[in-house]
Amino acid sequence: MKFYSTKRQAPETDLKEAVLRSLPADRGLYMPETLTAMPADYWANLEELSFPELSFQFANNLLQGSVPAEALKEIVYDAVNFEAPLVELNEDLSCLELFHGPSLAFKDFGARFMSRLMSHLVKGEDKTLDILVATSGDTGGAVALGFYKTPNIRVTILYPSGKVSLLQEKQLTTLGENITAVEVDGTFDDCQRLVKAAFLDEELSNKFNLSSANSINIARLIPQAFYYIRAFQQRKDKNRPVAMCVPSGNFGNITAGLMAKRMGLPIEQFIASNNSNDVFFEYLKTGEYSPRPSVRTYSNAMDVGSPSNFQRIQDLYDASVEAIRKDVKAYRFDDMETLTAIKEMKYRFDYVACPHTAVGYLGAKAFHQENPDHQVIFQATAHAAKFIDVVEDTLDESIEIPEALEVLQNRLKVAVPMSVEFEDFKKYLLER
Ligand SMILES: *Cc1c(COP(=O)(O)O)cnc(C)c1O
Repeated sequence: MKFYSTKRQAPETDLKEAVLRSLPADRGLYMPETLTAMPADYWANLEELSFPELSFQFANNLLQGSVPAEALKEIVYDAVNFEAPLVELNEDLSCLELFHGPSLAFKDFGARFMSRLMSHLVKGEDKTLDILVATSGDTGGAVALGFYKTPNIRVTILYPSGKVSLLQEKQLTTLGENITAVEVDGTFDDCQRLVKAAFLDEELSNKFNLSSANSINIARLIPQAFYYIRAFQQRKDKNRPVAMCVPSGNFGNITAGLMAKRMGLPIEQFIASNNSNDVFFEYLKTGEYSPRPSVRTYSNAMDVGSPSNFQRIQDLYDASVEAIRKDVKAYRFDDMETLTAIKEMKYRFDYVACPHTAVGYLGAKAFHQENPDHQVIFQATAHAAKFIDVVEDTLDESIEIPEALEVLQNRLKVAVPMSVEFEDFKKYLLER
């Protein structure tokens, strides 16, 4: 399988280069050359497949031999070792829980698959692979846990100071070993800019074997398609159309779903639910795409003012806003609405949701009011306890903390302070 850049100004590459380079030289994003439809009997016999098996068959068809089937099977089975259960709220709405992995957010799917794939791709090489990753909150923890102690791979995580939750910060600053946290005095967009600049810097690329673990990396995207298929498999009513609502920030998650749809996944409608960082919502409404600086919200992992994967969505639909509108609806909700939704979900369904999940719920509810024939699934992208302060304040009661987070409370934070200037970051990388 070949991979091309969405900007078409860089040469096509194979899987290894697309994954390890992460970003083509023309600043586009890699996409697989073809999205081959799954054979009809895959969908017909879907009920019989386990989660890792349906994931493996999908990945194997997508990658078309780029990884030998035996090796790919091992990677997928090892990565997808936790469930994505569909929890029914009522006959119209259900919630796809994506937080049963080690960092308690959906990004575990991407990080676990990617670490194992990268490890496979660099097998037998002697130079350390240096992974740089910017996080708005949840990527950092998932990548830290996904790559912890992976041989020959060193990970540097940039996060915006004071803009991630205490527990998120603990997840990425307390592991040590091959994981380093860099605390940037700026926003997520600053972190992302520093990482992108590092990749385009000649001196750094010559000295280090640099790679990225952000959602711009195609290896993160592929495994995010798996749980869309798992969700569809668990749908309650086999005769009703399915809509999937995705609380969206950098748009990697929903892009993976749209790629699966292109490969035959029978989910009829996708819904992108935005917080006040609503450039995609505005784009669908007006046809104009105007990225702008992000603003801070309670659903901080979605505080993205310039979503990277917008390029991939444009590419999938030949830059036709009409074509995108057919498959994707968008909604936008502010912080007040988010908090009200957290309360509503608790009182109506006895369901405790994190702020991102609440934004997803609101999108699902709004879509359902306009399309009552659909059964709507929304994604619970993180465990509520990862955002314990805002959830407990909102519900005015204490919530249960899973053990994976409990053990972090007393660990010591270790992070390297950093300005938003690229020269400072570069100096740090060269001298450490
Ligand atoms: C990353 C994240 C999102 C946004 O996902 P994108 O792929 O960036 O659109 C939503 N919710 C949570 C909890 C996240 O960690």
